[in-house]
Amino acid sequence: RGRLTFSDVAYRYEDGREGLRGVSFTVEPGETVALVGPSGAGKSTALSLIPRLHDVSAGKITLEGEDLRDVTLASLRDSIAFVSQDTTLFDVSLLENIWVGRPSATREDVERACSMAAIDFVDNLPEGLETRVGPGGQRLSGGQRQRVALARALLRDPRVLLLDEATSALDSDSEARVQQALATLRSGRTTLIVAHRLSTVQAADKIVVLEKGQVVETGKHAELIRRD
Ligand code: ADP
Ligand code: ADP
Repeated sequence: RGRLTFSDVAYRYEDGREGLRGVSFTVEPGETVALVGPSGAGKSTALSLIPRLHDVSAGKITLEGEDLRDVTLASLRDSIAFVSQDTTLFDVSLLENIWVGRPSATREDVERACSMAAIDFVDNLPEGLETRVGPGGQRLSGGQRQRVALARALLRDPRVLLLDEATSALDSDSEARVQQALATLRSGRTTLIVAHRLSTVQAADKIVVLEKGQVVETGKHAELIRRD
């Protein structure tokens, strides 16, 4: 359940610049693979191709053997949870922004997800969970939006977890809880992480090193350290 494969993937931005070239790797079902590399290497771009925020320019990406271009966007995005700071907030309350993760969930489920995702900033919002946080409402920081995405994902049972782990400034208590929630989510689930933290990379089954849009190395943490 959930094998994800990049085969010779290339991506060109609208301005013609090459973002990715000849990128190949596989995330086996239930495995965690970390994409690492310097800023601008193409890590976020690679991640964005999976929910088809952009389409590949050449090569292909498959999920369980099926070319992503042959899957409807709705069912594709239903299989994937994308946790990132760039999460879109809808023009509704914080509560409803999380509930969209699984509309059939109970309010208790939503509150439990909030607690697991360390959404403590809710205490400082004028109307708590009922505060409007979407476009015209209360602004949330990148780190806060990432926790909204995390809570949404916790309500769901996605086949694939995509994690753009930007280094957001969290206090150490929330940080520990967020890491715990992420570990729960990752467990047994095909996971691709854009990693900035060595601790995450150590937990990964495999590391794919990107530089200038190309894979320069693939291996386990210990192997890559040894080769350095
Ligand atoms: P990373 O996540 O590894 O930091 P990105 O995938 O965000 O890298 O970006 C890879 C490269 O592509 C960077 O040089 C970035 O400036 C460039 N880039 C990102 N988005 C666009 C875009 N929409 N148009 C042109 N270039 C872009
Ligand atoms: P950071 O905490 O990473 O500095 P910002 O708060 O500066 O993030 O916001 C980054 C981007 O997200 C901006 O384009 C901003 O307009 C947008 N944004 C911020 N808050 C919200 C929100 N509540 N709803 C939708 N977009 C938001």
